Amino acid sequence: MQNENTNTRKLVVLGAGESGVGTALLGNAKGYEVFVSDFGEISKAYKAQLAAAGISYESGKHSEEIILKASVVVKSPGIPDKVAIVQKIKEKGIPVISEIEFTAPYTNATIVGITGSNGKTTTTLLTGHLLQREISKLGIAGNIGDSFAKSVHEKKCSHYVLELSSFQLDGVFNFAPYIAVLTNITPDHLDRYDYKFENYVASKFRITMNQSEKDFFIYDADDETITKYIQQNPIKAQCIPFSIHRELEQGVYLKDQTIMMRFNDNEEKIAQVSDLAVSGKHNTKNAMAAATVAKLVGIRKQTIRESLSSFKNVAHRLEEVLKIKNVLYINDSKATNINATYYALEAVRKPIVWIVGGVDKGNDYSELLGLVNEKVKAIICLGVDNTKIVEAFQGSVDHISETQSMREAVQTAYHISEKGDTVLLSPCCASFDLFKSYEDRGDQFKEAVRNL
Ligand code: ADP
Repeated sequence: MQNENTNTRKLVVLGAGESGVGTALLGNAKGYEVFVSDFGEISKAYKAQLAAAGISYESGKHSEEIILKASVVVKSPGIPDKVAIVQKIKEKGIPVISEIEFTAPYTNATIVGITGSNGKTTTTLLTGHLLQREISKLGIAGNIGDSFAKSVHEKKCSHYVLELSSFQLDGVFNFAPYIAVLTNITPDHLDRYDYKFENYVASKFRITMNQSEKDFFIYDADDETITKYIQQNPIKAQCIPFSIHRELEQGVYLKDQTIMMRFNDNEEKIAQVSDLAVSGKHNTKNAMAAATVAKLVGIRKQTIRESLSSFKNVAHRLEEVLKIKNVLYINDSKATNINATYYALEAVRKPIVWIVGGVDKGNDYSELLGLVNEKVKAIICLGVDNTKIVEAFQGSVDHISETQSMREAVQTAYHISEKGDTVLLSPCCASFDLFKSYEDRGDQFKEAVRNL
């Protein structure tokens, strides 16, 4: 007996955010009968877009009698697999895929996919910046800006640079980018991976699982989690490692503070670290990855070099806000895990007055002890529960205080800091105890600093 679901081409989209609405619009244009279901509220703007395209939707519920008749379900990356409706869909044998998987077959563009625990947004935007001067039909999408689906629906791009989260990768089965970038892997989001790091690692590596010998896989060779995985699980794509610690026979590395590339015995200078627009070792790595992509795509070396110097980094990532009485205030609100804060503490000039705290996602603060002992003179906790931070660092710094609002934290920092210090907001934690989002937290920081 034929499966009636396959013939009717019914697309159900779970979650009506940027990714879901983009998928619905694309699916509708491609002839699917589309139904969008969101258990929460749908924003007015998205409702209007769906209505304008004549797409049916519901909010505040999941109507099983419609959803379970789907031939394919595209699930928003924010919805965990364990929720009841997803379980029921899977039990019925209906494929549950991500927007990326759904969209990729509808474009012939060259696709660059970028993932990693940290540095996705920076590397994606930097790569986009390196490509844009020579590629007129360039799309930058995925986890930032427009969804991939919406972009494919509305524009005809020749190249895409996609920021891909592990949640988006969990729903890919055939997706194969021409170039895949893996910036690093450190523990994050483990609640979605049964608290098993290996599951999260495997999720990140889905970015390369369908690549062939003609494709490229760019990765951080200094990251032991990545190199260990590669030793045990051969990669089909051509591997291009980058390292800031050692010269590589093939790949991208530093020599006298200059980024070098070597492929087939041909060594080339790309750019000096001091000329990069972004600072810190982590950003040197991001620049290496982005420059490698640009090179593979055929961007001229001169353009790569100039664009690496002219890039403007995104807000909330080591963003310099103001200098007041010779104290520099830096907003790194996007640092929501240990690894991101590690690089912030490393990149920033000492002595540091460090504002830290929020919702702890299982941090092991001992990884920061060395840098804190070396560079941090005072810690200002900003969270509802600061116990772990106080316990971890009370032996390391002379001053620890606890605050409950950004204004209080910034004012405390202002009073403690002295000429030459840096006040760094790099919270290491999610923001939801006291703020709406990391953007809200960073904006409040900047406002409090400007009001000093
Ligand atoms: P993501 O999109 O993966 O969250 P972002 O580029 O938004 O990454 O940066 C998030 C945080 O991580 C910021 O605090 C930033 O300074 C830091 N960061 C950026 N690149 C790296 C990297 N390669 N390694 C570690 N931390 C990084």
